Amino acid sequence: MKYVGAHVSAAGGVENAVKNAVEIGANGFALFTKNQRQWFAKPLSEKSITKFKEWMQEHGFNADAVLPHDSYLINLGHPEVEKREKSLESFIDEARRVEQLGLKYLNFHPGSHLKKISEEECLDLISESVNHAIKETESCVFVIETTAGQGSNLGYKFEHLAYIIDKIEDKERIGVCIDTAHIFAAGYDIRTKEAYEATMKEFDEIVGFKYLKGMHINDSKAKFASRVDRHHSLGKGEIGIDAFKFIMQDERIDNIPLVLETIEPELWPEEIKMLRSFENV
Ligand SMILES: [Zn+2]
Ligand SMILES: [Zn+2]
Repeated sequence: MKYVGAHVSAAGGVENAVKNAVEIGANGFALFTKNQRQWFAKPLSEKSITKFKEWMQEHGFNADAVLPHDSYLINLGHPEVEKREKSLESFIDEARRVEQLGLKYLNFHPGSHLKKISEEECLDLISESVNHAIKETESCVFVIETTAGQGSNLGYKFEHLAYIIDKIEDKERIGVCIDTAHIFAAGYDIRTKEAYEATMKEFDEIVGFKYLKGMHINDSKAKFASRVDRHHSLGKGEIGIDAFKFIMQDERIDNIPLVLETIEPELWPEEIKMLRSFENV
C-alpha cells in the first residue's frame, strides 16, 4: 500500500491538516505542528488534540502515514553551544507535540556547520543532539531528511545519514526521508530506470531501506548535481515524470508517507491522482 499526500496547511489548528489532506484526496500527509518560523509556540490545546485524533480515525489515516516536519530554525549541529541547546529544546518540544497527537515521526534536516567546524564534527553534534532528544521523549522516531547540500547544510550524501545513524544508541528511534528534489540536486540521478536502480542500490547499501520512513516527492527546478534546493511540480522540472513511476512501482517504498512539497498546491489533487495511476502499470 502506498500512502500518497502533500505537506498540507495546519493553519487555524493542527486538526485542519487532516481536513486539508482529505480535500486533496490524500491517504497520508505532512504538517507543521506549530509555526515553522518560530522557535516555540503555545502548547497544543486539548480540543485540537482530540479533534485531530477523531478526524484521523474518521477518515482512516494511519499514524505511520503522517510525517510531521520540524521548524526551519532548528540546527542540531550548530557550532555554538547556546544556539545548539536552543535548537535541541525546540526539537524536543516538537517531538512531544508529535507524541501528543498520537503520531510516530518527526522529520528534520540534519544541520549545518556554518563553515565553523568540520563536517564530521557537525555530524557528531547532530547525533549527540538526537540521542539526547530520544532520552527526553517516549516514542517519537526521528527521521533525517536528505538535503540538496546548499550552503553548509549536511545530509547531501547517504554517508552523512549512515554516519548519524551509526551513532544513535536506540536504532528503533531513527529513520530517514528521501527528498527526490534534494537527492537529485545533490548528485543522485533517478531519471532513468538504470539510474534510479543504481541510486536506490547505493541507498540500500549505505543506509538501508529498513530506515526509510518517508519520501518527499518533488521535481526540481535546479539542475542535476547543482546543490541548489528548488522544488518544482511533477513533470515540470529537471527530473521528469519517469522517476515518479519508478517510485510508485517500487515495493520497497510501500507503507510510508509519500509527500508532495511541490510548488503549486492547486495541482496536488491531480498530482496525487497521477501518482496513483502509476502504481500498477
Ligand atoms: Zn524538509
Ligand atoms: Zn523535503
